[in-house]
Amino acid sequence: MHTKQIAEMIENKRDSFIKVSDRIWEFAETRFEEYQSAELLAGTLESEGFQVERGVGGIQTAFIGSFGSGSPVVAILGEFDALSGMSQKKGQAKEEPLVPGANGHGCGHNLLGTASLAAAVAVKQYMEENNMSGTVRYYGCPGEEGGSGKTFMARAGLFDDVDFALCWHPMGYNSIMAVESLANYQVYFKFRGKSAHAAASPHLGRSALDAVELMNVGVNYLREHIITDARVHYAITNSGGLSPNVVQPYAEVLYLVRAPKVDQVQEIYERVCKIAKGAALMTETEVEIVFDKACSNVVQNETIEQVMYKNFQELGVPVHDEEELKLAKAVRATLTEQERQTAERLSADTPDPDMVSWINPYTGATIPLNGSTDVGDVSWITPTAQCTTACFINGSTLHSWQWVTLGATSMAHKGMLHAGKVMASTAVDMLKNPELIEKAKAELKQRLGNTTYVNPIPEGVMPSVKK
Ligand SMILES: [Zn+2]
Repeated sequence: MHTKQIAEMIENKRDSFIKVSDRIWEFAETRFEEYQSAELLAGTLESEGFQVERGVGGIQTAFIGSFGSGSPVVAILGEFDALSGMSQKKGQAKEEPLVPGANGHGCGHNLLGTASLAAAVAVKQYMEENNMSGTVRYYGCPGEEGGSGKTFMARAGLFDDVDFALCWHPMGYNSIMAVESLANYQVYFKFRGKSAHAAASPHLGRSALDAVELMNVGVNYLREHIITDARVHYAITNSGGLSPNVVQPYAEVLYLVRAPKVDQVQEIYERVCKIAKGAALMTETEVEIVFDKACSNVVQNETIEQVMYKNFQELGVPVHDEEELKLAKAVRATLTEQERQTAERLSADTPDPDMVSWINPYTGATIPLNGSTDVGDVSWITPTAQCTTACFINGSTLHSWQWVTLGATSMAHKGMLHAGKVMASTAVDMLKNPELIEKAKAELKQRLGNTTYVNPIPEGVMPSVKK
């Protein structure tokens, strides 16, 4: 059985994969500045016999490692960016930064990028040992957090010849991610007015901060008249300074508009732009609209998900030892009651373990995901499937200190290696059965219907490192 062989291939290299993951956890580099993390992954791929192209799509930290030639082409997607301000000491049940104010891997992308590396390496080895034709590619995708690296890579056409793609995400449970995430746009509204002494000559000033505030009021009234599934968030990224005795001449607000479908986002975005222009008109300021990034919703693919589920069941689940369970229990005790209520249960009667030890039953039904991922854009171009493995405690949430502290421990390593095995086994299964690839492609076509993929990031907009 190929699952057994693949599991062995990954286990044989477990120490080197764990080392890669832990180094990336230490680097903790944020969006589009993941120089060391990208280089470590790219260098490891080269030493494993992959051809690596760096700086793809005009993005310095994006790269593709490739082995083999011709079709079918399988893409395994890896991420490796951290989150700002999430520094945390490892392996302890207490919130405590490693370096105050520094970055941390709050979304487990050190594990994400490394499991995908392990999968690509195992697929290559399996193809070599079994004289299989085709190509396996590792996509080094930077800036997933607020950066939509894959959407930029998609705009550059880097996924156009891919036959199917696989990805995963570390979580507190084992599952097939039959999700449809939210599409989003992230856009800056930059207002420019005129400074003046706020008491001596207020009539001469035109306040950009007033414009930001009025825009936000307008958007908050808009909320009642948009679809309930949409989400509109904002952050004032420049309030114009700290002096109330100055009429603020410059102010800036960053908007993030989300909705289930990308065309719904576009519709709301156009209305938000009208409000911004209205605020500028009211305050006699000028507004500049600067597009930052966007991503499309995920289109699930049941054909690949079925194959993935079958392989996952054959492989079983990561098993944790007593020491790991002891740490899991201690960290889980730090969760609030509300957080605990989000824990995975198969039914009301299932016990509530600190680490889950089952695979969630897969039914093919779509699970709506209240979040966004740039895997969405890949899934419009080529059939794509994702899974999760239990790397963290049951009921913990993404972007939490609990994820950072556990992200470089043996329980997370086990989940990571397991995800590598599930993805590699799925890839091999699909490569051995080309009719499944055709079926997956037909399914994608059918799901998209009359809609064609339009990359949501306008030409000329480049990745921004701004946090
Ligand atoms: Zn993530």
